[in-house]
Amino acid sequence: MKYSILADLFERIENTTKRIEMTALLVELFKKTPSDVVDLVVYLTQGKLRPDYEGVELGLGEKLVMRAITLASGGSLKDIENMYKKLGDLGLVAERVLATPKTGSILSFLGIDESSRELTVKRVYNTLLKIAKASGEGAQDAKISLLTGLLKDASPKEAKYIVRTIIGKLRLGIADMTILDALAIAYGGLKSYREYIERVYNIHPDLGYIAKVLATEGLDGLRKIKITVGVPLQPMLAERLNDPTEILSKMNGECLAEFKYDGERMQIHKNGDKILLFSRRLENITNHYPDVCEVARKHIKAKEAIVEGEGVAINPDTGEMLPFQELMHRRRKYGVKEAMEKYPVTIFLFDCLYVDGEDFTVKPLPERRRKLEEIVETGEGIQLAEAKFIKDLKNLELFFEEAITEGCEGIMCKSIGPQSIYQMGARGWLWIKYKRDYRGEMTDTVDLVVVGAFHGRGRRAGTYGALLMAAYNPETDTFQTVCKVGSGFTDEDLEKLPEILKPYIIPHKHPRVESKMDADVWLVPAVVLEVIGAELTLSPLHTCAYGAIREDAGLAIRFPRFTGRYRFDKSPEQATTITELIEMFKGQRKKHLKG
Ligand code: ATP
Repeated sequence: MKYSILADLFERIENTTKRIEMTALLVELFKKTPSDVVDLVVYLTQGKLRPDYEGVELGLGEKLVMRAITLASGGSLKDIENMYKKLGDLGLVAERVLATPKTGSILSFLGIDESSRELTVKRVYNTLLKIAKASGEGAQDAKISLLTGLLKDASPKEAKYIVRTIIGKLRLGIADMTILDALAIAYGGLKSYREYIERVYNIHPDLGYIAKVLATEGLDGLRKIKITVGVPLQPMLAERLNDPTEILSKMNGECLAEFKYDGERMQIHKNGDKILLFSRRLENITNHYPDVCEVARKHIKAKEAIVEGEGVAINPDTGEMLPFQELMHRRRKYGVKEAMEKYPVTIFLFDCLYVDGEDFTVKPLPERRRKLEEIVETGEGIQLAEAKFIKDLKNLELFFEEAITEGCEGIMCKSIGPQSIYQMGARGWLWIKYKRDYRGEMTDTVDLVVVGAFHGRGRRAGTYGALLMAAYNPETDTFQTVCKVGSGFTDEDLEKLPEILKPYIIPHKHPRVESKMDADVWLVPAVVLEVIGAELTLSPLHTCAYGAIREDAGLAIRFPRFTGRYRFDKSPEQATTITELIEMFKGQRKKHLKG
């Protein structure tokens, strides 16, 4: 099959504005594509060489591509750079310069057409693949020479699309779903066919492969495609509701509620000792998380398994969960090791899709959860998502507040009925997310009293990892806990802390302290520190103003941070009172309602 057919089609697609026309053009293309290259045609149409999850990177640097265009056209690099500056599209540059007859070569002097070799889809594809895979010493030169060879034989239009493909800017905007539609029409024609193809796509999201099987073996071939370890499945997605009563009624009165962790979704594939991690978008993210691979290898007690969870960055000194942004340090090629030490990740597993030959996606959630519990040995760095069976509103709300206090985004309510299968690639009501839809900023700092402390780990061994902080209740003359603060301390602070707190250490909780938490070290309420947080929340874990807003919860500060100010000028009784905190909480709510 000639590559020019593809280039012509790309041009027509570029001029199309309606999805329906685009689909028709693709159908036309597939109908004239021989079955042995249909996979290559699909990939090239998507501007890629392999499905995303295989991580084959096409993107050749623009500088190298400009050199190849220079060599293929016989022009000067300077001219090409200038033209690129003007046109802003290297594809157009290639098209222009290759449209002008080459000067200077003997063949052109003799009037002989140099580009007599017609490009085929196979040749273009194979050359691009070779370019993508070339590595090691001399790889750059090899890439340039491969591309030059291709461009020399290309028509101007072909060169335009080859260049755009190689720099990762084909951008035809063809969604996977459009290709699925076109495949169904080209090879089947029935709507049911389309649904079936999509189902297969959900367990094997490789459109080239699906096209090839369809073209060569038909629907029967597709039936043979099963879940495969190493090939990611399309993730199940949740609907969203903000009214817990509505959530419970959608769930027929009962559900499994889980913490909704604020990290990165990971689909873990285990095959013996081999581990692969895929992101929510099914990219291969294995190299970003060697620590998750390690715990998965050791703690998943099955030979073959596909499980799913959320990876969360943890403060190694305090064990607290860090906001999602901290994971950005992992999304890079170099320095992963350093990032791993600074921001270790714990994976919180919430689903189990496949274990040793058995497909669990078709089983109801309670069965999947049981299997997960059976095959995962939890330990440092690997946990199961905190979960609770919920049957009433009160417990749903309490669990939600608990999740928020622990640094989570909210909760996931999941159906536990007989129909509660893992719906790949679908957003449905079997899972409902219940998130905070507002972020009341805590604009004011508060002055809190240190009433307890927790030993540090890692870099903070020998000093404290976090301090238990309390507000003052003048009515009862007690100190009621409101947060555990571990952030905001400099190395110098950390060094000084044991010394500062030492005089106040006592063997048990101070009688004026009200706490539901067990600290490693108890202190006489004396030292006052200034703290700021993201917002105030309700929490069953803290005693501050317990019962004042809601019967079974106190107030807590989310993501608290020490500002650096020791309030030695304040006595503990001059610390922020619970009444002030109640007012702050109410103000926050009002702001939310107004917004
Ligand atoms: P979506 O993934 O639904 O398109 P999104 O990317 O904006 O939306 P969220 O709205 O935050 O994500 O909610 C869904 C995500 O929550 C999941 O994709 C997953 O990464 C994460 N998550 C955290 N904890 C859980 C859990 N216990 N069960 C399922 N998903 C969870």
